[in-house]
Amino acid sequence: TAPFDVMARRRDFPILSRRVHDLPLVYLDNAATSQKPRCVIDCETRYYSEYNANIHRGIHSLSQQATNAYEEARDAVQRFIHAARREEIIFVRGTTEAINLVADSYGRRLGPGDEILVTEMEHHSNIVPWQLLCERRGAVLRVAPINEAGELILEDFERLLGPRTRLVALTHLSNALGTINPLKRLIVLAHAQGAAVLVDGAQAAPHLGVDVQALDCEFYAFSGHKVYGPTGIGVLYGKAALLAEMPPYQGGGDMIRQVSFAGTTYNDLPYKFEAGTPNIAGGIGLGVALTYLQSLGLAAVAAHEQALLTYATVRAAATPGLRVIGNARAKASILSFVLDGVHAHDVGTILDREGVAVRSGHHCAMPVMDHFGLPATVRASFALYNTHAEVDALFAALAKVREIFP
Ligand code: PMP
Repeated sequence: TAPFDVMARRRDFPILSRRVHDLPLVYLDNAATSQKPRCVIDCETRYYSEYNANIHRGIHSLSQQATNAYEEARDAVQRFIHAARREEIIFVRGTTEAINLVADSYGRRLGPGDEILVTEMEHHSNIVPWQLLCERRGAVLRVAPINEAGELILEDFERLLGPRTRLVALTHLSNALGTINPLKRLIVLAHAQGAAVLVDGAQAAPHLGVDVQALDCEFYAFSGHKVYGPTGIGVLYGKAALLAEMPPYQGGGDMIRQVSFAGTTYNDLPYKFEAGTPNIAGGIGLGVALTYLQSLGLAAVAAHEQALLTYATVRAAATPGLRVIGNARAKASILSFVLDGVHAHDVGTILDREGVAVRSGHHCAMPVMDHFGLPATVRASFALYNTHAEVDALFAALAKVREIFP
């Protein structure tokens, strides 16, 4: 296979040629949201300028064209995550809505004393929906702790699993630490106790290959905007047999078969879970984004990003007063760190002045910050279009921070 040509890929992303404070943009906030390639931007424009129409209802040409494009996007998602069946792909707003859908619908089978197991490294969107569910159903939330390297402690995870565990909800790749969880093993352990598993794939989808059949997870959630697609669109994958048994999440148009005041029947999968007019342009754009990413070769992209992370980690180790937060053996795409004596927000502000975009804060993972006794970290996160020169720009900018805060 051809080597990964990062400079050619950069030309696919129009925004990368812009300047910030009259300096070239160095965009290292990809874990928050990724930039969009021209093919995704063009496809949204084409939809609105050529065949904008509502889907699934109209028999006129535009509606059929829009319906076809939207349903082809579902096929692209199915291919991307290797789902067995297209009706297992439910379009939602994003990871957050996907998790809330499962908490609301699947959650109705939980009762008092039933347990949900999450990990200490979860994003708030994989914590709060379960807390709300526990309040509604009298269930109990258990938390598997992490070690000082930011890895899940396997013995504790196993110890916390039991016959009362109905659901395990955990991230594939931590957005605050970059830790990759050994999912396959954890899912086998959960299944041995009869628990269903929901995987938060928001960070993993752009960086790690996803094969929901190989993982054998019950649910997998991810967001379009982190995988080079539009905002406001995301995916919930669920095993068909489970989805078929689950009650609808929201009521409205498209999710019904027959409505009368005597009673209503629901549509087939996946439409049962897709009430109302969806983000049509977003869905079509997500399909294009995933097809684009796959066309580059996921392994080549992952190798490029891993090289960037390794290089950044080496440079971090050579930077006095810089402490990396999250030193797991298996990591991807994310370097979280603190600079002694400088608040993360000051670091972020000075980096911005140098054209370098990073995230400073708690990364919607306050329990992770609590674990490390920090209010915030600085997070540089890499995407397929980042370069070694940009890593150098990051460290040059960090040297400026040190000049200002000696
Ligand atoms: N989980 C993880 C691990 C994330 O990084 C994010 C986004 N920061 C989410 C869930 C939530 O995704 P969204 O805001 O797109 O719903």
